[in-house]
Amino acid sequence: MVSEKANKIGESPTLKVTAKAKAMKAEGIDIIDLSVGEPDFPSPDNVKKAGIQAIEENFTKYTQNDGIPDLKAAITARLKEDQGLIYNKNEIIVSTGAKSALYHLIQALINDGDEVIIPSPYWVTYPHAVSLANGKGVIVSTKEEDGFLLTPDELKSAITPATKALILNNPSNPTGAAYPRHALEALADVILDEDIFVIADEIYEKLVYDDFRFYSFASISDEIKKKTIVISGVSKSYSMTGWRIGYAAGPADIVNGMAKIQSHSTSNPCSISQKASLEALRGPQYDVSKMVSEFQRRRNYVLMRLQSLPRISCNKPQGAFYLFPNFSSTYKKEFNSMPIRNSYGLAYYLLKEAKVAVVPGDAFGDDAHIRLSYATSMDNLEKALDRIIEAVSQLKTAKKIKHIALNNSVTRVKKSVPVDSSISLGMRDALVAEMEDSLSYDNYFEWNANINGVIVQLRTNVSHLNDFWIENWYPAQLEADIEPHGIIYAVDGIPGRESRAFYNTETKTGILVNTDNYSPLRSLALGLISDVSERLFSTYAFRGMSVEVDGKGLVLIGPKGTKKSDLFYALLQDTDVRLHSNDILFVRFSSKRALADSIERKLLMPTNTVEFYPRLASLFDNSKCENVVTRKENCQDSDCLRADDCRLDRGSPFCYKASKSSVSLLDPYWIEGPAKHTKRIQMRWIFILRYDASSPAAVEIETDDALRILESGQSPGLKTTISPPGSQPFFNPHLLLTTPERIEYQKNFFRQLLQRTTCYLFNSGIATVDDIKQMIRGEAPSEIKG
Ligand code: PMP
Repeated sequence: MVSEKANKIGESPTLKVTAKAKAMKAEGIDIIDLSVGEPDFPSPDNVKKAGIQAIEENFTKYTQNDGIPDLKAAITARLKEDQGLIYNKNEIIVSTGAKSALYHLIQALINDGDEVIIPSPYWVTYPHAVSLANGKGVIVSTKEEDGFLLTPDELKSAITPATKALILNNPSNPTGAAYPRHALEALADVILDEDIFVIADEIYEKLVYDDFRFYSFASISDEIKKKTIVISGVSKSYSMTGWRIGYAAGPADIVNGMAKIQSHSTSNPCSISQKASLEALRGPQYDVSKMVSEFQRRRNYVLMRLQSLPRISCNKPQGAFYLFPNFSSTYKKEFNSMPIRNSYGLAYYLLKEAKVAVVPGDAFGDDAHIRLSYATSMDNLEKALDRIIEAVSQLKTAKKIKHIALNNSVTRVKKSVPVDSSISLGMRDALVAEMEDSLSYDNYFEWNANINGVIVQLRTNVSHLNDFWIENWYPAQLEADIEPHGIIYAVDGIPGRESRAFYNTETKTGILVNTDNYSPLRSLALGLISDVSERLFSTYAFRGMSVEVDGKGLVLIGPKGTKKSDLFYALLQDTDVRLHSNDILFVRFSSKRALADSIERKLLMPTNTVEFYPRLASLFDNSKCENVVTRKENCQDSDCLRADDCRLDRGSPFCYKASKSSVSLLDPYWIEGPAKHTKRIQMRWIFILRYDASSPAAVEIETDDALRILESGQSPGLKTTISPPGSQPFFNPHLLLTTPERIEYQKNFFRQLLQRTTCYLFNSGIATVDDIKQMIRGEAPSEIKG
């Protein structure tokens, strides 16, 4: 499994679009790629020669970690000549591209929790580079009418005591916006009063138009220079993206910190490329000006063509090679009944219909726009603009775009939390006192749930948990003097505590600290009520997925990896099968019968259930959801991510399949209507699942064998890679107490249950849902060999 960090960050969307365009071209599709982030010119001849010469002279070994002295001198000379900036050699570091300089800088500068102000639209890498350093990116939106330039007031209002740095990208990718000197001075006035650094990403410094004079932020004053680290490189100015040389200039201690980090990550940048870059910086600058005038011509052309589109606006930028037009007026339109909805939808439409690759603005933090790169030939630009204009004119005003206002809460904590289920009375009292102290009267929610006759009171400061709690259970009376059987505290925001659950059985108190996720709360509640109802009512919790077939109850039980959900939802497709419960049932005995109740008003369902039961999607649309993925970077489905047909890429506002931990609270009566659901079943069959290639498909098993399997919580023959470590007795993760006494209670219960039912060991690696149906209808022998 990859780390949470790797999981959290998304692949670079710009690189992905470009790769996609290349792949389509390779398939023979006539794609015009306006997603490219590099000049389309060859590296200058003198640069190439210098590279070849370096190879011939065997300059192909490790160099100084922070760059060869000659190149550092050339960088210092260029900064002096272009910007009047004086740097010492120990204030310069050469890196493997500006990206690597930026990455090492952020690692060297940012402590856990430090805030970094990132004006949006931003270059896609900034927020990820900050979060990989455990910093907090603070996104500040700039306005189209301000030419996407950050204003001093916007900067001021984003600064907090935790602010460590501002990233100022000038000229900007994706907007092309470039800061005139007076705009930099106004920002510098704010910075001077604050204890913060400026990361000045000036990689596009040479690509400016209309006689615009570029000023480095460090050149504003000596004081500002001490607070600025300039990032630049040869990639864009000299069309040298593949050579991978960038650099940073800034205070010696920061540069020294970067050098230490670099020494453990990339070591020195490529020796050959350093020699080539030396030539680029020192040699004639003729190629740069040629490129700049060609870019200016293209920018003017694309702007002129965009102006012919009604309701599309585009800021005229002074730098880089991108335009960032506002296409949001197309988001209410559709093509062949396919709604556009957002920048992803538009980019997808342009790729498929116009065969033009562009990058959705949302990738840069601004969904109203798309990014067009004009780093491609005039011929290509003409064709691309013809196609875009034609494709946009084909869009029709949508008669009715189904607007789905997803009712979705995104929680900080995403998974189950460790439970300490045997805390002493003393510890319980201390914890309760701590919880009560943290529950302020003006942010306090309390609600009594009636869970299978057991009254559980929730006391929480998390309104989302209260919402889900109320939705999930039937209500009990709410009078103040009612005595609940148990109490659960769910308190978030307690400093210095990990996310954790506690349970004390004498007082039936559950305590959930610092989690805002609903599943741990529900699980704690189920554990509490099984503890109470076993003792008071002789009713037992049984973890499984249950249905009723021809009036008789059938339960599937087994650990993860045994395809329980596949079988369950396949069974439900049958018209004679009724849904009972998807997770937990409470069983009691009445003479020879075992009656099982489904006790939840709404069922908590993983939203990726839509894979088995696609029709649930429209029901989730109208239900309360938690952690449904709305941004591609949060998608955890790596197989689907690599595939071509991502819903989010096509402009869908969310995806139910993208995460294993997104859930919805669904009214079971909504699934095919009331006749398809029953609250009580008389249990007839238990199928314990296993999953392998060699065991028999299905065998009927004796009570003692079944009890052994149930107690161990492991299916025989299950591959250890699938079976989770720390198996759950009785396959029940909600069971709080696994003391010998409790295990005996459960065994007793299961013994009685097994006497009243038929139990099979069923191998879902071989047998299918049809075998289950045949078995229960008596059409198959009680042992199927497979
Ligand atoms: N900063 C910005 C704003 C960029 O657009 C890019 C390249 N797309 C870089 C830094 C990285 O440049 P390099 O190729 O030198 O790593």
